[in-house]
Amino acid sequence: MCASTIAPDKVSEPALIELSPGSLYDKCSALAKNLWWSWHPDVVNLFRDLDPVRWRQLDHNPIALLREFTPERLAERATELVLFTRINQAYRRMKEYLNSNEDTWGNTHAGVLGAHPVAYFSAEFGLHESVPIYSGGLGLLSGDHIKSASGLGLPLVAIGLFYDQGYFKQQLDEDGYQQEEYLDTQVHNLPMEPAVDADGQPITVSINTRDGQLKAKVWLMHVGRVKLYLLDCDVEGNSPHDRQLTSRLYGGDHRTRVRQELVLGVGGVKALRALGITPGVYHLNEGHSAFAPLEVIRERMHDDGMSFDDALREVAQRTVFTTHTPVPAGHDRFDGGLIEEHLGPLRDELGISYEHLMGLGRVEPQNESESFCMTVVALKLSRRANAVSALHGQVSRRMWAHLWPWRVEEEIPIGHITNGVHIPTWLAYQMNTLYDRYFEAGWMRHMGDPGAWQAIFSVPPGELWETHNALKSLLLEFVRRRVARQCRRRGESEETVEAARRVLNPNVLTIGFARRFATYKRADLFSRDVDRLCDLINNPQRPVQFIFAGKAHPADEPGKQLIKKISNMRHDDRFAGRLVFLEDYEINVARHMIQGVDVWLNNPRRPLEASGTSGQKVVLNGGLNLSILDGWWAEAYNGRNGFAIGNGTQHVSDDVTDARDAENLYDVLENEVIPLFYDRDADGLPQEWIERMMNSINSLAWRFSAHRMVTDYARHAYLPSAGGISCDMSIR
Ligand SMILES: *Cc1c(COP(=O)(O)O)cnc(C)c1O
Repeated sequence: MCASTIAPDKVSEPALIELSPGSLYDKCSALAKNLWWSWHPDVVNLFRDLDPVRWRQLDHNPIALLREFTPERLAERATELVLFTRINQAYRRMKEYLNSNEDTWGNTHAGVLGAHPVAYFSAEFGLHESVPIYSGGLGLLSGDHIKSASGLGLPLVAIGLFYDQGYFKQQLDEDGYQQEEYLDTQVHNLPMEPAVDADGQPITVSINTRDGQLKAKVWLMHVGRVKLYLLDCDVEGNSPHDRQLTSRLYGGDHRTRVRQELVLGVGGVKALRALGITPGVYHLNEGHSAFAPLEVIRERMHDDGMSFDDALREVAQRTVFTTHTPVPAGHDRFDGGLIEEHLGPLRDELGISYEHLMGLGRVEPQNESESFCMTVVALKLSRRANAVSALHGQVSRRMWAHLWPWRVEEEIPIGHITNGVHIPTWLAYQMNTLYDRYFEAGWMRHMGDPGAWQAIFSVPPGELWETHNALKSLLLEFVRRRVARQCRRRGESEETVEAARRVLNPNVLTIGFARRFATYKRADLFSRDVDRLCDLINNPQRPVQFIFAGKAHPADEPGKQLIKKISNMRHDDRFAGRLVFLEDYEINVARHMIQGVDVWLNNPRRPLEASGTSGQKVVLNGGLNLSILDGWWAEAYNGRNGFAIGNGTQHVSDDVTDARDAENLYDVLENEVIPLFYDRDADGLPQEWIERMMNSINSLAWRFSAHRMVTDYARHAYLPSAGGISCDMSIR
């Protein structure tokens, strides 16, 4: 990478004399080209300070920002702001981080993966708002996973797709109906470069289908110590149609989808080979990449002269599969025609029949009416499989029990590793500063260990409360600015825009809800009884207010109707000023919301939420979760670290469940959440609320951290797979 061309930096003071404008610029560029900067608030602030207005306008993209500076102008600006030392320090810290692998967790515990790293496949990666190759939870999880792998020094390379239009931008029209817009990403503003082979030649992979060849070039993105390789079909030699194959995330029909998955799985394995990387473990994050093991089997048969069955057994031993959804529609299925068109040539090389191949994707191999399911093939080609929370593990074992008809449900070989979040990414700067003052020096090195957060009880309650309120103010400013802009864009009256600049009140209990608007997440549960809601919102002593955000999948009409319903509540006088909908939920909006809300609301229809991670981000920053006992919350809630809606049961009838859950939501708001929030001592502090914040941080932050998650994967999945230890995933 470019940093290596820069002369080593010796002494930093006085920096002014040592740094020519050129080398200053080079250091900033080197920082911008490794996403390491994105989880280091000092470095983020450094870029922001160069030009705060452009920084915001450019989606916090440092490469785009630096493009607007000449080296001389940058040096001038650095002099004005006395930035030399900060730039030097940031640069040196990054170099040290990248070069020092010895004292990492990975080096101590996972050295066996050194020569043969984990290859982590995912269809999306949510790393930063300026890198739009994600849509939602799955992508954020992958992004956090590889950032933690970097932090832990775990040998891992990641494989994904490059979408030059990413996912859509959301705007609501005058009626509150979602409009989708796809913008072309400026490739030269992204922190990536062409991946090259041993001879320095850019890599292109080719995949044969019955209908001709499909080509993809390979990009390299640096995420700390981890290399992320992204395949991109916009290359010469592909038909105009295929050049757009990887333009959009989850766009298009089944044929687009199977072709994208072919590129990710089969193309991904070919790319690794071209790079000279021989993985010790293949991790399929969700079924999208489940064609990958078939290509690895082909390699083993070709290279080592193995039979198909022997190669399958060996490859499965090295393959880990994580399933992410208990919703049946969430599992990709393809008909035989599409499978034969795209896997036919590979099947010829594997020497297996069409029926044999189709059987790998079917629960009942002989059942010709069954389509080819990516989850099924992933389960059959992996020795270790896991769900993403304890409850989701139970649901998945039941869901796939018929794959192992001779086993009882508890013996179905699908374990669980509960999701977690990358703490440095989601922890607010202000909270981080507070923790630094009261926690042991270097506490972040142990952030995934039990007990690491106990020091939260030594933070003076008033300081924790003040810091939280400072973050809440930042959120409200952000909301007002955004909502006013939304109104202006829709051409609403000056009066409305003016009112938007004053929405919400910093003293009022603020509840956030942001997620994909799939109907099972029931964004409108809170409004099932409008009169009761109205009483809550307008209580003169103890009011509440709501901030909503979220996109609906472009094909999800009921989801779009939900957005319309909620966003239009602002026109109702009873809710005006107390309920807002923020457009275009993405990482930046998420960051503001999870750092600033008092309460994070989550009310899916149990047990359809596999895990959820947004609530884990809230924990770090002192917000409290108010959630159905589903996904991660079912194992996280202990009665003192947040709030539960209901008691973790569901009825066979959705209608009954919904009515009961809404009732429980109002009850817990009226009887627990609101009284606790407004119960203040002589200093105006809600002592019991603050205690709950501390309980939440202490009991949850480490457990639902990506560091804990990735070390669990290493111990229970990667190391046993790499070491050839034969055991089912022992993580129930
Ligand atoms: C964390 C995050 C998600 C996933 O959160 P859920 O709890 O699964 O909804 C989705 N989108 C963004 C932008 C996020 O930051």
